[in-house]
Amino acid sequence: MEKEVVIVGGGVVGLVLAKELAKDGINVTVHEAKRSVGEGADKASGILSVGGLKEIGVDYRGAVLNSLDGAVLYGGDQRLRIKAKEPKAYVLDREIFGMLCAREAQAAGAKIVTNSMMGKEQLSSLEKDNIVVGADGVVSTVASHFGFPKIDDYILTYKAEFSNAKIEDVHSCNLFFSDAPRKFFGWTVPYSQSILEVGIGEWMHSRRNSLAVFNTFIKNDIVRKSLLSSSKISGRASLIPLQTRKTTVKGNVLLVGDAAGQVKATTGGGIVFGSLCAKTAAEAIKNHIRRGAPLSLYEKAWRKRYGLDLSLHKFIHSYYSNIGSRAASFIFRFAKLAGAESFLSEYGDMDRPSVVVKRLLIRQK
Ligand SMILES: Cc1cc2nc3c(=O)[nH]c(=O)nc-3n(C[C@H](O)[C@H](O)[C@H](O)COP(=O)(O)OP(=O)(O)OC[C@H]3O[C@@H](n4cnc5c(N)ncnc54)[C@H](O)[C@@H]3O)c2cc1C
Repeated sequence: MEKEVVIVGGGVVGLVLAKELAKDGINVTVHEAKRSVGEGADKASGILSVGGLKEIGVDYRGAVLNSLDGAVLYGGDQRLRIKAKEPKAYVLDREIFGMLCAREAQAAGAKIVTNSMMGKEQLSSLEKDNIVVGADGVVSTVASHFGFPKIDDYILTYKAEFSNAKIEDVHSCNLFFSDAPRKFFGWTVPYSQSILEVGIGEWMHSRRNSLAVFNTFIKNDIVRKSLLSSSKISGRASLIPLQTRKTTVKGNVLLVGDAAGQVKATTGGGIVFGSLCAKTAAEAIKNHIRRGAPLSLYEKAWRKRYGLDLSLHKFIHSYYSNIGSRAASFIFRFAKLAGAESFLSEYGDMDRPSVVVKRLLIRQK
């Protein structure tokens, strides 16, 4: 009898993996701790590039709140305005997107068990006869139970939604690189003409409370003006991993998504790369079950396909997170003079810095 695959965690990444396996006839069960799939997913934002969504391959249309074709980047006393001719990203309702992913996984034949928190006891009994996948997010029980190397660099986040906000351009988000937060940034993202998401990320080692940083951030002139007569609808704190784990396969156990740290360190976005790595994991698991190929091929394959871009995100993050307000003003002024606004408006790619670098090199030839 073929081995069963047990996926711990019914977030987007676990569900994409379940669908990929089930559609090829693999026996797969997802265990989700929450009462329903998608519950609580709104503690994170849902900005996904148009290209990334295409690659993930889930019909996301029912979850779209807004489209984005532009961004204003603030650094020191300067700003860069990027405006593309067509939508570059969608803002998704995370709970609905989770439900759509679950529906496609179930339609392909995957079983989803909700209200099923997998603790150490359950995990120990599973490992011998099954393939176990930890898709259980940033604080991964699977990773700690099976002794995977630790992630010790995180961003603490706090995000809130406001109604009745004043929004200048409903299709553009704002990113603030040198105000209150340390080693990350603050943002505003419109959901509609009057609902605005505002958030911050703060480096965990600065030992500041993310809500306190958020409360300072929203006093910044631009954010304050947008929120003058608004009301806070809800607010949540969360966590983003800033590094990939050194190992993501151990015996019959694999890690994917946030559990593996497959996240863009520049923005904290983890759905696109997490899902693409889940598809890579599906190939490796199928080859293991059907042809006896080693599961460690998953690790080699995802690092080969996505390792360069994830490392470039990490490099860019370490660069911008160490510059102060004066240096930011200087860099932004220089970037503006060098034509960064029009270049990024035309060629910007929020997932793949390697593509942007290639285009830059071609342009300079
Ligand atoms: C403030 C913020 C903003 C973000 N904005 C974006 C963005 O705009 N775009 C983007 O792409 N990414 C964004 N991210 C990152 C994105 O949310 C994550 O990368 C993504 O959710 C990772 O998906 P996942 O399935 O790996 O993990 P998760 O979404 O965390 O799902 C893990 C699931 O596992 C379940 N679980 C955990 N432990 C167990 C257990 N022991 N047993 C059973 N189930 C368990 C949880 O209940 C959860 O449902 C943001 C994150 C934050 C914090």
